[in-house]
Amino acid sequence: MVLAELGNKLSAALQKMQAVTVVSEEVIDRMLGEVARALLEADVNVKIVGELRKAIKTRLNFEEEAAGTNRRKTIQRAFVEELSKMLDPGTKAYDMKKSKSNVVMFVGLQGAGKTTTIAKFAHHYQRKGWKCCMVCADTFRAGAYDQLRQNATKLRCPFYGSFSEADPVKIAEEGVRQFRREKYEVIIVDTSGRHRQESALFDEMQEIRAAVEPDDVVFVLDATQGQSVGDQAKAFHEAVDIGSVVVTKLDGHAKGGGALSAVAATGAPVVFLGSGEHFDDFEPFNPRSFVSRLLG
Ligand code: GDP
Repeated sequence: MVLAELGNKLSAALQKMQAVTVVSEEVIDRMLGEVARALLEADVNVKIVGELRKAIKTRLNFEEEAAGTNRRKTIQRAFVEELSKMLDPGTKAYDMKKSKSNVVMFVGLQGAGKTTTIAKFAHHYQRKGWKCCMVCADTFRAGAYDQLRQNATKLRCPFYGSFSEADPVKIAEEGVRQFRREKYEVIIVDTSGRHRQESALFDEMQEIRAAVEPDDVVFVLDATQGQSVGDQAKAFHEAVDIGSVVVTKLDGHAKGGGALSAVAATGAPVVFLGSGEHFDDFEPFNPRSFVSRLLG
């Protein structure tokens, strides 16, 4: 995973400080320069890298301590904390409520991994004992219905969709109404993903949103798309008010930095990471443990 590469580079930059006797301004600047380069190479947005650099510098000036061990520790702590802060927008993700119908709508560009993520999401909650179901409101992509239904069958997860109905808003509305009546706890709504951020896609999402009144809107983003995900996330956020983010394809050549950009663009927290095509290749996301793991 390329993320490990980023971790190695960041650790190496910090390690270098251990090798010098005096942690001077120059040493710090050099370290920050290396950190910035590693983050940029990992596709983190240039503006965010600049902000991180500034935040660490400000903290160091503020917490100025004598040269030596203390200073090194302060720098390491500042680095971990500021990096974690970047990944934690400070808003809490929607908290699923037991014995209630929680409607979760999934949005994202075609191919981002939305349908796969929905299956993983359902699997995750099913294993925890939640009553899950799926609604396929993607009438745009031929095959979406079958793909979702096949996953639903494998997971023994009730499914609502239609071959003949062409109006996704109607399907979403009816499916959610039926599952609410049947007291399902996690009602997952799949929506169409198009190639580009067309206005028709956004109009449709907004109509579905108004029809099903979701408790959470999850934006699925493909980590392999690099820098462009920040703008994508922003456009989706403006249209449907994203509540949480899932980053997919972190197993491939993804650099993962897109996740940082997406958090900054939406102010919505990352809730899960996807790292493969299987239902189990899915894990809850925690900024602090992510950063700790990144730094080995
Ligand atoms: P959708 O168009 O957004 O619904 O995307 P799909 O769920 O159909 O996924 C598009 C392709 O990406 C499929 O071939 C999936 O198997 C693959 N995919 C989805 N998530 C992941 C992931 O985390 N890792 C990898 N390697 N492939 C994934």
